[in-house]
Amino acid sequence: MRDMDRNEADFIFRGDLEWFIARKARGKPIHLVFEDHQSAKHLIEALGVPHVEVGKVTANQEPVALSYLPKDGDKLEILPTAPGLPMAPCFLLDNHLGRLAASLRMLGFDCLYRNDFEDAEMAHLLENDPRILLTRDRQLLMRKAVQFGYCLRSLRPKEQLHEVVRRFALKPVIRPFTRCLRCNGILEPVDKADVLEQLEPKTRLYYNVFSRCPICGQVYWKGSHWEQMQAVIANLK
Ligand SMILES: [Zn+2]
Repeated sequence: MRDMDRNEADFIFRGDLEWFIARKARGKPIHLVFEDHQSAKHLIEALGVPHVEVGKVTANQEPVALSYLPKDGDKLEILPTAPGLPMAPCFLLDNHLGRLAASLRMLGFDCLYRNDFEDAEMAHLLENDPRILLTRDRQLLMRKAVQFGYCLRSLRPKEQLHEVVRRFALKPVIRPFTRCLRCNGILEPVDKADVLEQLEPKTRLYYNVFSRCPICGQVYWKGSHWEQMQAVIANLK
């Protein structure tokens, strides 16, 4: 006799959600045995895909919510989220992503980052200050407090920047050189005379337009660093 609490369903992941699935299991449905009263969200995460990565879900070709309780014999299809911003472009980055934080700040985006964040602390932060979480830690992305987020595929900061710009369709909302790379402060224009003492002799000689971070005092000007960054922005897709 069949156990009434035991259900079986097929899950197929589309697009770049396959990245989360073991290579040998890609491209075909994953057969899952589960007990009653488990949501699609729970089962999808049990298969390794954080809910924030999921766009549309269908069960037997009918759209369903992540709270849907799959039934015996269901065929679920899980699509990735479409590119775009789910909220204002404010980010929280885990403590391995310092270079990505600096690059996103360079593009003008509000990035909360520290190199000593604990997972629980980040989840708590998100409850009071909703932000898009960027991390490579899937378990962190699966936490309830995480409403929006993205699991970085690449380990390389340059590629990570491209991923984030693409995923959240950031290109039209880039405001380069408006934010402090060190502390996230919003830069203010400053007279050269006021920062003269902080400048190297060559900078004093060749540059006239400066801005300063009102929080940490860092001074910025359109030097060689600025030109390199212009190139990075021009290459963003
Ligand atoms: Zn600063």
